[in-house]
Amino acid sequence: MRKIFIFTLIAFVTSILFIYCNSKENDTTKLTSEKSHESEKIKIAPPTIDEIIENGVPNDSNKIKEGVSYETDEFSVIEGVVNPGQAISHILGKYNISNADIYKLEQASKDIFDLRNIQSGKRYTVICSKDSNYIAQCFVYQKSKTQYVVFDFRDTISVREGEKEVITKTNIVKGTINQGGGLWYSISKKLGEEKAPALVDFLANNIYAWSIDFFQIQAKDSFIVYFEEKYVENEFVGIGKVYAASFTHKGKIINAFRFKENEKYADYFDENGNNLRSAFLKSPIDFARVSSGFGHRKHPISGKWKKHNGVDYAARTGTPIMSTASGTVTFAARKGGYGNCIIVKHNEKYTTLYAHLSKFKKGISKGSYVKQGDVIGYVGSTGYSTGPHLHYEFMVHGKHVDPFKQELPASLPLKDENTEEFNKLRNEYTEILQNFVK
Ligand SMILES: [Zn+2]
Repeated sequence: MRKIFIFTLIAFVTSILFIYCNSKENDTTKLTSEKSHESEKIKIAPPTIDEIIENGVPNDSNKIKEGVSYETDEFSVIEGVVNPGQAISHILGKYNISNADIYKLEQASKDIFDLRNIQSGKRYTVICSKDSNYIAQCFVYQKSKTQYVVFDFRDTISVREGEKEVITKTNIVKGTINQGGGLWYSISKKLGEEKAPALVDFLANNIYAWSIDFFQIQAKDSFIVYFEEKYVENEFVGIGKVYAASFTHKGKIINAFRFKENEKYADYFDENGNNLRSAFLKSPIDFARVSSGFGHRKHPISGKWKKHNGVDYAARTGTPIMSTASGTVTFAARKGGYGNCIIVKHNEKYTTLYAHLSKFKKGISKGSYVKQGDVIGYVGSTGYSTGPHLHYEFMVHGKHVDPFKQELPASLPLKDENTEEFNKLRNEYTEILQNFVK
């Protein structure tokens, strides 16, 4: 017994000593590496023109002067925004590019980028020689947040396209709808107004379009979403994949897990592997589109099934109306109190009706075949109507029913052979959502 005790003690002391020495050693290596880093910093050469094109101007503001974002001994970098009506010749004229060179540039870029397509509001960068001639060496036009076109004057005039590196980060947003605020308000409060539109759009149109009518979202509904954000040079440029979401609407939880059953696209399935797509969209109007204009306020849309056998959606005149399911148009004309009216027959059982339209979509008439989500007409106030709105009816065997109370045909569930893989992913996502506290 005693022997064991002594042995353990020795082992303990040795290990403590070992850890202590090791940590000392670590400290010294850390110090030297920090020192060598500092000396490296001093020796760093300024970026080349090509590095500026690829990575943008470095974040050191020491050298900025009026109109110039960055400069080295050899060149200056000027960043600007295309003004309305400004052509490339106006911009480059200032940097001593002649009209003859602009002509050559037009020829060189013909197959890559049409110079007449330069849009006002887009950003550009000019890299200019610092000698007395002050001639542009390169002009970089920012086509989108990730794509740019380089017009290079250094040797022979050349044009090429480039793409910035996109960094992806994951994020989770969780919230509850408050009295007087909508989904929009709730998401923007958490994520900021820049990111909210893309996420609202994705939830309303890609994940829950078949299971939740977002016009009916109410106080105490809640949500949590696990998704990717994309950044270019630390600037948010968009939403990437949405991995999972859970929405509680009127006390019912609807989970959605992203899963790819085929190469082309991903679908969303609930925890039991049921596809969230179904034969009918919940709403004939795009929630994200209609509500975006209302900013922080709750949008004034009712979307309740009324005694008059339909659901009313208040929206601006001209708002597009979608067919909630695929089918054949059996009526597209004026119809008494309904005003301009469209009826779509989906099969022997289901028919939908859309009334008070300001106009029909071009090409829509009796006999047209429409797919789910196709625009068929536009919101108006024709017939017996007190203001612009869509009156939507849902019929089963010709009888009016409340569409929100229907058990509607679902899409094909997950394939058997994918169950194992899906369950693994579902469990992983569920754990991430459940462990999120904020
Ligand atoms: Zn109505």
